[in-house]
Amino acid sequence: MIKHFLARQHLDQLFSVLSNAGYQVVGPTVKDNAIVFTELSHVEQLPWGRQEIAKPGHYQLTDTSTNRCFAWNTGPQGLKPWLFKPEQPLWQAEQTEQGLCFRQASIEAHPIAVIGLRGCDLAALKLQDQHFLQGPYPDPYYQAQREQLFIIAVNCAQSAETCFCVSTGDGPEATHSFDLVLDELEEGYLMGCGSEQGQAIFQQLTLGPQVSKDQLHTAQKQLADASQQQRQMPDEDSLLKLTENLEHPQWQDVADRCLACGNCTLVCPTCFCSKQESTSDIKLQQAEQVRLWDSCFSEQHGYIAGKLFRPEIRHRYRQWLLHKLANWQQQYGRSGCVGCGRCISWCPVGIDLVAEAQILVKGTPHEPTDR
Ligand code: SF4
Ligand code: SF4
Repeated sequence: MIKHFLARQHLDQLFSVLSNAGYQVVGPTVKDNAIVFTELSHVEQLPWGRQEIAKPGHYQLTDTSTNRCFAWNTGPQGLKPWLFKPEQPLWQAEQTEQGLCFRQASIEAHPIAVIGLRGCDLAALKLQDQHFLQGPYPDPYYQAQREQLFIIAVNCAQSAETCFCVSTGDGPEATHSFDLVLDELEEGYLMGCGSEQGQAIFQQLTLGPQVSKDQLHTAQKQLADASQQQRQMPDEDSLLKLTENLEHPQWQDVADRCLACGNCTLVCPTCFCSKQESTSDIKLQQAEQVRLWDSCFSEQHGYIAGKLFRPEIRHRYRQWLLHKLANWQQQYGRSGCVGCGRCISWCPVGIDLVAEAQILVKGTPHEPTDR
């Protein structure tokens, strides 16, 4: 890919060109001591000079010695809430003189340009696309917003302690699904195009000539540094062995620590569990059906036909890990984990799914249990 240089002082041009092209610009900023994605109107809102310290059960922002705006890796949320909304009205019903009248909830979508997504975020997007768009019944709400999405990805120049995207094959380089891609250097950005829409924006920017060999070398060195990660998820063939170890005592060991709070599933960019709820007005004249995010850690998520299928926490943790790491391979052709590490740092008791998976795939001692 041919890349051109965008000086740091011209980054605001990218915002104005996107805005003039009709996009709402969404990107990272600091809120409540975390990096969150929100609507941005100017570059000053980006998290300049901020970086996260992420460890099991720990997330903290700190100042960096550089004045970069992409010196962090992840926040609690990536792209998921912008496409798969936490609360999505599905239909409304109204009592009329002719009887009950049903109508589909309106589909609200508009052009959004998201800046700052990483390789792991793009891998998660691909998986969510498979879930929501493939098959005979694509989700119309997801689809409408997905079609109006413009992505400016960023190659990671560093990894957090919790990152393991190298072992899942999803980072630290952004290699697909973007319109524009950036490498952040001290003096500015190397910018490449990934689509015709990206090219149309690219052409309106004040870009330097093709980047120098030194700049390319620096960008490659940054990627090599970011590839040095401490954690390694077992490979996919090994992860399939989880299904052979359903009675491993480690399921109880992790359940003794797990609070079943569901944080891990809420921050996970690939989790898609949902539930539906109905509400009606006090006169029972109008009703609404809403889809809400749910979690396999919720007791009610395993409630079917008067029975709780996963009454204990060990059953729910087993469901999460087995589905995410093993059963997704049959369902979607790969594991459902993209190595972002969010579930590790946002777990209040610091449960590390990589460490759990490494123990569970070994298939050591079996203690037959009731389930
Ligand atoms: S399971 Fe954890 S590390 Fe894997 S994609 Fe989900 S949040 Fe990221
Ligand atoms: S693994 Fe951690 S984040 Fe997930 S439900 Fe258990 S305590 Fe909560």
